[in-house]
Amino acid sequence: MAKYVYNFGKDGTDGDATMKNLLGGKGANLAEMAKIGLPVPSGFTITTEVCTYFYEHGQQYPPELEAQVNEAMAAIEKTMGKKFGDHKDMPLLVSCRSGARESMPGMMDTVLNIGLNDRTVEVLAKESQDERFAWDCYRRFVQMYGDVVLDMKPKTKTDIDPFEELLEKKKEKAGVKEDSELKPEHLKELVKEFKAAVKKQTGKDFPDDPMEQVWGGIGAVFGSWMNDRAMVYRRMNGIPHDWGTAVNVQAMVFGNMGETCATGVALTRNGATGVKGITGDYLINAQGEDVVAGIRMPKRIEESLKKDMPTSWEEFSKVAMILENHYKDIQDIEFTIEKQKLWMLQTRNAKRTGFAAVRAAVDMVNEGLITPEMAIARIPANDVTQLLQPVFGGTGLKGKTPIAKGINAGPGAATGQIYFQPDEAEAAWQKDNAARIILVRRETTPEDLRGMKVASGILTSFGGAASHAALVSRQMGKACVCGCESIGIDYKAETMTVGKKVFKKGDWISVDGFTGNVYEGEVPTSPSEILQVLFEKSLKPKDAPLYQCFQQLMSWSDRFRKLGVRTNADNPKESEQAIALGAEGIGLTRTEHMFFDRIDDFRAMILAETVEAREKALKPLLKYQQEDFEGIFRAMKGRPVTIRLLDPPLHEFVPHESKDQEELAKKLGIPKAKVAQRVHELAEANPMLGHRGCRLGIVYPEITRMQATAICQAAVHVMKEGIDCHPEIMIPLVGNITEYRNQEKIIREAATKVFKDAGVTADYLVGTMIEIPRACVTADKIAESAEFFSFGTNDLTQTGLGISRDDYGSFINQYQEMDVFPADPFQTLDQDGVGGLMKIAVEKGKSTRSDIKLGICGEHGGDPASVKFCHKIGLNYVSCSPLRLPVARLAAAQAAISEKKEKTDKKAEGKCGCGCCKDCKCCPCCKCGCKG
Ligand code: PEP
Ligand code: MG
Repeated sequence: MAKYVYNFGKDGTDGDATMKNLLGGKGANLAEMAKIGLPVPSGFTITTEVCTYFYEHGQQYPPELEAQVNEAMAAIEKTMGKKFGDHKDMPLLVSCRSGARESMPGMMDTVLNIGLNDRTVEVLAKESQDERFAWDCYRRFVQMYGDVVLDMKPKTKTDIDPFEELLEKKKEKAGVKEDSELKPEHLKELVKEFKAAVKKQTGKDFPDDPMEQVWGGIGAVFGSWMNDRAMVYRRMNGIPHDWGTAVNVQAMVFGNMGETCATGVALTRNGATGVKGITGDYLINAQGEDVVAGIRMPKRIEESLKKDMPTSWEEFSKVAMILENHYKDIQDIEFTIEKQKLWMLQTRNAKRTGFAAVRAAVDMVNEGLITPEMAIARIPANDVTQLLQPVFGGTGLKGKTPIAKGINAGPGAATGQIYFQPDEAEAAWQKDNAARIILVRRETTPEDLRGMKVASGILTSFGGAASHAALVSRQMGKACVCGCESIGIDYKAETMTVGKKVFKKGDWISVDGFTGNVYEGEVPTSPSEILQVLFEKSLKPKDAPLYQCFQQLMSWSDRFRKLGVRTNADNPKESEQAIALGAEGIGLTRTEHMFFDRIDDFRAMILAETVEAREKALKPLLKYQQEDFEGIFRAMKGRPVTIRLLDPPLHEFVPHESKDQEELAKKLGIPKAKVAQRVHELAEANPMLGHRGCRLGIVYPEITRMQATAICQAAVHVMKEGIDCHPEIMIPLVGNITEYRNQEKIIREAATKVFKDAGVTADYLVGTMIEIPRACVTADKIAESAEFFSFGTNDLTQTGLGISRDDYGSFINQYQEMDVFPADPFQTLDQDGVGGLMKIAVEKGKSTRSDIKLGICGEHGGDPASVKFCHKIGLNYVSCSPLRLPVARLAAAQAAISEKKEKTDKKAEGKCGCGCCKDCKCCPCCKCGCKG
């Protein structure tokens, strides 16, 4: 019989930490904690397979599930020594929580205190000798169950939450401000009123039967897998929708049974900075949700738990270290102290910023806890870009005094306009993607996710370092200041008040997630510590601890990676910066970018009517280009430099406004009508598929000749200075070998002439961009002449998918929302389609020229998933913009490490695929070369 339910607790645990796919992260880690003897309230996990079944069978459960759940409930009762629904002794209450493979903090539903009804609440009151506690649990339970299971949560901003409305009325009537000031009789009345509200809204009585309540909770958690915010979160984080969630049903323990009780969340190292030491929030006499929801202002564990509860602190800090050493990673722990007894409710690898990820991983290697491979493998490659982001500081902050200070929950510097409502923030961003937004909220909840996503920074007046705002913004890499108590927020008036100063929606503020400071107005930023060391040289490495960690990580990455990393750079400054960030060469210089500074000379060439006139107009351009190339060659100091010949349609360079045409005509001494006529002639209905790329060089060979001459003259000039040069001349948009040969001939003739005249020969290559499907499928032919291929995946995506790279913005958001595309194909390579074309080109290219040099220079060269794909299909290098180089280096190392691991795993399983025998375990004796 299929097993759908796995028990955990001190009397027997079925699962362990390796079973995340089946038990979800929470379930697998609860099992692991119970297995290593930590105090975990007993419970059971319903597997993710049930979730899949649930959605595949019209929200029905497998028939075997009911009996397995009943059996598991009985096991909890036995271990905890309490009965579910007990009317005589202390009743067992349970919680019902989600738990996906990857944690999705706050995105799905939870129900606490299941098992309470009018009879069990009385026993709870008697046994706990705390009537208020019992009725507060009951009140919370009815409210939570109503919201989550009975779907009474308000759907829009203007909907009224019936429970909140009743609660407010009750407080008003009782003359109190806080929920905690309500007396047992108020809570009793509230429960009655809440139940009446349930009846009114749903037409049904609130369920009294504890088992019916459990099934309600289970259904709600599975149902929440498909709620809007969970789907948005999965899309943002690349979590497949078909993974499903597990459900964890667990005995309740209480942090709200008086002053010897507490509940909290803690990290074993700081999730914002990575610095070692427990940090976190706790509340005395409270239930877990209060801490993360930011409803009451929590206390800092590192500041006061030791003083408030010395024995529990000691036990807790020991357990926290056991967990970190066991998992060898920063742990994010939820715990409850019930009458001084510590209970562990959850542990998981902590969400962290890029800063914390790098710092903690490097520290852990230096502490001997993990290996460099493990450090590399665990850092999301994209996150290292956070370390290069600008910060406030230097002159930017001169004369500025912070207007408020909160908790520095997400490092980074952000300046933007205040928005209070997430949906308005999202709408503003959709109107203008460059809009800079600071989302200002009292606290954030998972519903705010869409607004947080588009904000540059987040500011909350409530909630600590473990609040939802802190957690999520850290993961998104957004600057976040939370718990900034000195700001008053009025959503209705759309104002934020600090002292006497009132800020309105749209006003500019700045938040510093490193220090927790908030500033009025826009604050200019300065470069990150790493760029101050590497680019500006204004900071010495020894004074820059973050730089040291970064550098350590990069040097490990370089040790493991097999892929080369190059940069896309168009001038000496970019080239130097790229070398500082690890570039081993240039993978793409777009020569047209060099014309922008000499646009009128270039326009004169375009307007020339005869070959002679064009050649004359090309002369000054040759001089400029040669100077530019010399600068790049000097900066690259002998590293290979791939220079692409002119690519864009000429129409992009001519003036389109009548006024500008008139000015140009005057400068060139020709009639304006002539300029206008040429502009008209150059116009194309679909310029991206028009007269561009090698088609320009074929129709105007003198342009190719000029560029090849400039490259070769620059090379010999620089070589005469004693600097080595390795130009790689690249022909764009080739689809046919005849196009390639046409251009190659011009290039080689120009090179031969230059070298002969100079008496110096540069070691140069001629190759092509592979960016249209025909080039891929005829790559064997093209490789007869081409010495290298560089995949131009921007155009290959455009032409392969038939989607205009300039026009896809109008539908891509919807495509992603509807899961038509898993990701933006212009950012992350479409591996099946475009990747398939690349594989064909690699195979065919190598079949003709086994040592053909293969690279990528489209935007995908800096995208981690795409870099890993490039490693897999055997490219020699990836090329990306300078600031993406650390991402590429790390992703390339990750690809190499995971390939090695895959091979080792396969060998261990006897599936190394050497094909020499049925069971590869005998590999040592054969000659398959797999070194089994
Ligand atoms: C490409 O098409 O991927 C490429 C690098 O060239 P461009 O973006 O200049 O067309
Ligand atoms: Mg291109």
